[in-house]
Amino acid sequence: MSLLGAAEIRELAATLDLKPSKSLGQNFVIDSNICTKIVRIAGVTRNDIALEIGPGLGSLTLALLQSAASVVAVEIDPRLAHQLPITVAHHWEHPENLTLIIQDALLLNELPVQPTVLVANLPYNVSVPVLLNLLERFPTLRTGVVMVQAEVADRLAGRPGTKEYGIPSVKAAWWAEVKGAGSISRSVFWPAPNVDSKLVSFTRRGTPGDEELRKKTFAIIDAAFAQRRKMLRSALAPLYGSSAAAEEILLKASVDPTLRGEALDISSFCSIASVSEP
Ligand code: SAM
Repeated sequence: MSLLGAAEIRELAATLDLKPSKSLGQNFVIDSNICTKIVRIAGVTRNDIALEIGPGLGSLTLALLQSAASVVAVEIDPRLAHQLPITVAHHWEHPENLTLIIQDALLLNELPVQPTVLVANLPYNVSVPVLLNLLERFPTLRTGVVMVQAEVADRLAGRPGTKEYGIPSVKAAWWAEVKGAGSISRSVFWPAPNVDSKLVSFTRRGTPGDEELRKKTFAIIDAAFAQRRKMLRSALAPLYGSSAAAEEILLKASVDPTLRGEALDISSFCSIASVSEP
């Protein structure tokens, strides 16, 4: 198996007359060592079915095919999707190990296989909703590593009480333990993005409750962070009708009503949801 290098990526782009789309976050990795490193950090083995979102020209896909039993890749851009199996067939003796789906990953709710690991250089403008959607829809995904904009990585891995902590951190924490996994230089991309990138890894854990509790908890999280600088009793007033009603619920959940949402971890948000009326 040979991986894709900078020269071949430029050649492919020229053949396809590809003008990378900013709105689709098309920044392709041109350094194959980075792809190998990401797959290694993700701990992908021959027992894994890897899910890749946005395979693009196939840099990471080829590295994944080398390590996983099979890869299922979801690409929104049909030009790239049609080229991918051709590229894979040139580089890998088992092209049948790739399943390609042409779809918007935001709308993905079923797959022909049950993926075990997510490995992706996510399109930057939709990285958080894509990740949360996948964690929700595909419970067999037990672990993963994604590349996202540095600021988004810090938010996803943010801890309570920090300025990075917010909706992405606390919602991701419902599903998984999320950690930073290193920075990536802009120079490994073509075209070079004007933001820095980082890797984030996750390991799924048991959810703190059922789907009904999750929905209630997520509504409380949205309300708490919509007015981030306010105390919880005020921030949750629109949800419960008044700040007095919000205060009563917070006290019932043993949460100090004068705290701000940014001080609470996922289990405290769940406690509030558990004592709330539906
Ligand atoms: N994996 C490739 C790499 O590392 O070189 C490309 C990564 S590029 C940052 C993001 C890829 O996601 C592009 O191929 C883009 O077309 C695709 N994409 C953008 N939005 C998408 C969506 N909503 N669903 C699926 N793929 C999407």
